[in-house]
Order: sequence, then structure tokens, then C-alpha cells
Amino acid sequence: MRFSQIVGQQAAKEHFLNMWHHQQLPHALLIHGNEGTGVLPFALAISQFILCENRQSADACGQCPACTQASKLAHPDLNISFPSIKPEKKKENLSTYYIDDFRKFVAQSPYGTTFDWLQSTGAENKQGNISAEECRSMIEKLALKSHVENGYKILLVWRPEFLGKEGNILLKLIEEPPARTILILAAEVLEQILPTILSRVQRIKLLPLRQEEIAQALSDREQTDVHQAQRIAMMASGNFHTALQLLHHPVNDLLPATKHWFNMLFVRRGIDASKAMEEQAKEGREGIKNFLIYVEHLLQAVIRFRYTGQCRLGGEELDFIQKLAKTPLTQAAIEQMIDALNRMGFYIQRNANAKIQLQALNIEMMYAIQNKKVSSLN
Ligand SMILES: [Zn+2]
Repeated sequence: MRFSQIVGQQAAKEHFLNMWHHQQLPHALLIHGNEGTGVLPFALAISQFILCENRQSADACGQCPACTQASKLAHPDLNISFPSIKPEKKKENLSTYYIDDFRKFVAQSPYGTTFDWLQSTGAENKQGNISAEECRSMIEKLALKSHVENGYKILLVWRPEFLGKEGNILLKLIEEPPARTILILAAEVLEQILPTILSRVQRIKLLPLRQEEIAQALSDREQTDVHQAQRIAMMASGNFHTALQLLHHPVNDLLPATKHWFNMLFVRRGIDASKAMEEQAKEGREGIKNFLIYVEHLLQAVIRFRYTGQCRLGGEELDFIQKLAKTPLTQAAIEQMIDALNRMGFYIQRNANAKIQLQALNIEMMYAIQNKKVSSLN
């Protein structure tokens, strides 16, 4: 992975390059940002840059043997640890058992989520972790000399959140790594990282991607037409993973279904609203996720429209948003609905029963519209 393959994140690239060119690169670096900002691709780009034998001032060359190996995650001095589940027939849970699958996963979907990764290894409902044995194996690997004379050794840990308290095994390594060793942690949720680790690393933050950056990346990489790319970018909320999800599982015209559902909710025709959700449940996991993202996006647009009087959407969508904005729905009620949609998306992603979740959503939406709390249901 080269910096040129990263979507957006110009400031973070410059931050890293600045440290590098001023010889101020710390030996433990934490790249962090929300899902879909690209913490793994960014960490991989840093790794390849450091390992490249013909480094340019702002990027790896992409052509030297080291780059070829690093781009396939097969460079002998690039050690990678990531969450996994213990294979049934093994005594320990080590990343190396999964490295071939991991290479394929990253080649196919560098912006893929940890959840997608774990599902692709058949984790189902298991959580996945980075085990104590894996930590010890990292320490052993880094104790060896690099394969290139005077070269760097890198340990990239994707999602150190999954270390749990086993992370303490790494403290000494983080504090006093062997010479010419760089640790790169790529994380999404800082609160889930051990404070003892957090206090020992320097951070580079990745920001949510800008709409133009997502739209540009979709047209350049996926040959998406300009109009569709902009539309998806608007809905993706700075998350490139969501953008790809919307692109590959297209949002067919979801407006009529949304309008019908809202009409039923507003006139309190509970049975019909519930039937509308039964229909949605037939769309399958990806279809339902897109529906939830779409409705959330429309509600966000209602909030913006009320504040600014402006809306980037047009046609019937604009019409619908204007109508919703004129209803007595309070800001709190809209936020409650957005929160419910978000939560349902999370459950559906984790294979919860779609039919049941969508009915629960239906009730939450109806209560929000009637300005009631649903706490009694939980
Ligand atoms: Zn190179």
C-alpha cells in the first residue's frame, strides 16, 4: 500500500512525513480514526514507506522488491498481528495461522471492518482477540535481526483494542523496542485501548473523510459515475467502508418505501407500519443496512434543513425533507430516531434477527414521533 492509494488524509500523511524527515519518528506510533477512515491502509502505507529501498520524499517507490513484498503483506520484516479466533485444532490463537486469509482480505477490501474480517474466518458470534501467545510471539519475532542489513523491523498491530489486558505483555517492547524497530498500532476506539499502552505511544489521528474525497475515490477507483459518486459520498458520513457498501449493494429507489413507512407511523397505523418493516426484512442483511443508512441520511438532512434552510438533495427527496421539517417533530425526537436507526444497523450487522429488530425499530420510531420514551421496553 502506498500513500497515493489512501483516500484523503492529507494532513495525517504530512504529519507522518514531517516526523520522518526531521528524524523524529517515535518507535511506537498509534494511528487512530473512526471506522472507514482507513487506519489499516494508512498503517500499511507507513510500513511500506519505511521498508522501501528506493524511498521517494513523499511516498514509497512501489516498484522495488521491498515494496512488492510489503504490498502483499509478505515482507519478512513486516510482522502483522490482528484479531482472530483460536482455530479448533490448535492450542494457541496466533495471527500466523490466518496470515494467508488476511492477505487476501486486505487485497480485496483494504477498508474492510474487523467485523467483516472475523466473519470471513468463520468467527460467527465469537468475539476474536489478540492473545497472550500472540504477544509473546511478537516479542520473539522482533528480537531477531532484520533481513536487510541495517534495515527496519516493523510490528503492525491492527486493532490493539482486541489485546485486552494481555496488552500489558507488550509494555516493555513499546517502551524499549530493539534497535530500528517501529511499532505501528492501528485503532478505531481509543477508550478500548489499555491506558498503559496509550500513554506510551505517539498518535496520528485520521479524520472522517470529506464528501469530495469519497466521491473522487469512487469515480477514480470504482468508475462510479459522478452523480452517483456524489450521492453515495453524501450518505457515507465520512466512512469509505460505508461508501463501498452503498456502491456494491445499491440503494434502489428507497424513497417510496420510506415515505409509506413514515406516513403509516405519523397517522399511527401501527399494523401497516409494521407490515412495511416486514417487507424490508425480506431485503436481506445488506439491503436492510442500506435502508437504515438511507433513512438516517434523510433525517440528518431534515435537521440541516431546519438550521440552514438548505438541502443538497433535490426532487422528491427534497420535497419529503421539506414536509418532514414542517412537522412538529422535535429535534430530540429526530435524534432519538437517528439513534434507533444506528443501533439497529449495528445489531443487523451482527446477525441479529432482522424481523424482530425491525419491529423493535418500528415501535421506537412510533414512540419518538409521539414524543415518548421507550425505556419501558428495555
Ligand atoms: Zn520501494
